[in-house]
Parts: sequence; structure tokens; C-alpha cells
Amino acid sequence: MSGKDELVGIRTAALGKVQAAESSAQLDEIDTQYLGRKGELTLQLRRIGSLSQDERKDFGQSVNDIKAELSEAIAQRRQALDAGESKAKLAAEAVDVTLPGRFYQTGRPHILIETIEKIKRIFIGLGYEFVETPEIEDYKYNFEALNYPPEHPAMDEQMSFYINDDVLLRTHTTAYQHRVMPYRKPPMRVATIGKTYRYENVDATHGHTFHQVDCFAIDHDISLTDLKGTIQQFAVEMFGMDVNVRFRPDFFPFVEPGAEFAVTCFLCKGEGCGVCKGSGWLELGGAGLIHPNILEKAGIDSEEYTGFAFGFGIERMPMLEHGIKDLRLFMENDLRFLRQL
Ligand SMILES: [Zn+2]
Repeated sequence: MSGKDELVGIRTAALGKVQAAESSAQLDEIDTQYLGRKGELTLQLRRIGSLSQDERKDFGQSVNDIKAELSEAIAQRRQALDAGESKAKLAAEAVDVTLPGRFYQTGRPHILIETIEKIKRIFIGLGYEFVETPEIEDYKYNFEALNYPPEHPAMDEQMSFYINDDVLLRTHTTAYQHRVMPYRKPPMRVATIGKTYRYENVDATHGHTFHQVDCFAIDHDISLTDLKGTIQQFAVEMFGMDVNVRFRPDFFPFVEPGAEFAVTCFLCKGEGCGVCKGSGWLELGGAGLIHPNILEKAGIDSEEYTGFAFGFGIERMPMLEHGIKDLRLFMENDLRFLRQL
């Protein structure tokens, strides 16, 4: 093979490798292989000595031309690779500002807590002080001090969670009365709100754990009118509309007279609907004037002072408002339920 043919072969192979190179490191290798001190093209120049005078100039020129061409090709390929790399880097780091943001789930109060907070705000606005008393309660506060006769069915072990003969889970928040009354002087307006417990078979409308609010006021000349006005004012603020209050006689050992109270149905505004069973009224709870025995037991002169007391369940309000049919949903913490409220 003549020197010229060999040069053409080297040139073709070298340029082909340059085009196929995928990295700077590969280009460095090609550079060394052909243009280095012991590179293939450099070695070709050493053949000049064996050539005729005429051929030398021409051959030397050809080798140098190929070296220059290869250097240029390597430089261009290097530039192209660098551009490609930075383009890929830019693409990897790119931020698409049109993408929707990440959705972070935020917590919020449980529907019962919201209801409790609203009820508290209203009664605090009406001058009531909220107190907390034990959920694990003495028998005497839960029943005895509240004038329950010994044979009252509520005291039956079958209806309550007894811890021992003298201690049980309170069956109503009314148990707070004698934890407060004997230690204060009238006038007083005190309320409590919290959990109560009954030994019930659990179903959609019966739970073993539920919430109640209880309020009482003691002062000179407290009458049923004050009681009715207080409940009415509460209901107006709670349901955001004009509400009437209806009393019907009922018996609770700690009030005399006692009544169950109902308010205008806030869903149909008293016209009658499925929820109020066409009556236009929603029964909420029990109320009455504090029994003189209760006042006397607390060291309050029942000739000088009178008082009223009332209480009602909490769960019923969001159940009515949102059409919730199953009491158990409040305690199960199922997000599919909670997210709807
Ligand atoms: Zn109604």
C-alpha cells in the first residue's frame, strides 16, 4: 500500500471515530491515538526520510492537512457534546411553572368540636362561665346530690358504667352542679360541656359515649320566663333565625317544675318537614327551675334565691343540620365522612 493510500485510510477511520465519540474522554483518546507524540499521524511523518525528494513535500503537506482537519473535527465534536450536555442538564433542572401546585392536606376541627365551640361562645356571651368537672364521677354527685330517689332506673347498674360501688362514668353533665354550687355565692351562671356515658347497646341512634351541655343560673327572682328567654336567645344565635321555644311538662329529679323543651325547626322554619315529622318543632333537651332541695343541699337559701337549669345533647345538632343518620359516625374518624362536613 502506498503512503498516500494509508493516509486516506487513517483519515477516514479517525474522522469516523470523532463523529461516533459520545464524551470528552473518548475525544481525548482519539486525540492521543492520532495526534499524540506517538500518534498514528505523527508516526507517518517519520516515513518522510524514505521518500523521494519530489514526494516529501507533497506527503508532509497531506499529513499536516489531515492533522489540522482532525484537530478541527475533534474541537467541533467537543463543542457539540458540551452543548448537548448542558442542554440535558437544563432540561433536567427545568421547572414547569404551569403545573398545578402540590396539594397539602390541612387538618381542621371535628364537626363535634366546631359545634361545642359555637355553643360555648354563645353561652359565654350570655354571661356563663364554663367549668370542667370529672368524667369519672362520684355516685353522690351523679345521682344523690341531684335528688334522685333511690329506686330511680337511671341508677341501675344495667344503665351505667360503674367502676366500683361509689364511682361511675358520669351519665349526664348535670353531675357538675354540686361540684360548683356549694362553693360559690349567688348570683351565679355556670355551664359545663363534655362527654357522658351510658351502658347502651350501640346502634345508629344510641351510643355509649356522647356529649352534653348543662347550664344553671341562680339569683333573686329567677323564673321560668328567664329560662325560656335564655334558651330562646341561645337558639336564635345557634340557628341564625327567629326561634320560638316550647315547654312541655316533664320530670327530672333536680328541677321543679320540669319540662322538655323544643325549638322551632330550623330546617323548615316551623312549617313542618320530614326532620321535625311535620310538627315544626325540634325537641332539644330538659329544663326547669332548680329544685329547692338542691339549693338547700348546696347551702343556698331557697326562700331568698331561685334558679333554673337546662341541658341538651350535642350530637343531635349536627345530625339535624347535616342530615346525619348514624350517631356512630362521629366517633369513627372516617375521613370520607368528616370531609363532607
Ligand atoms: Zn321541620
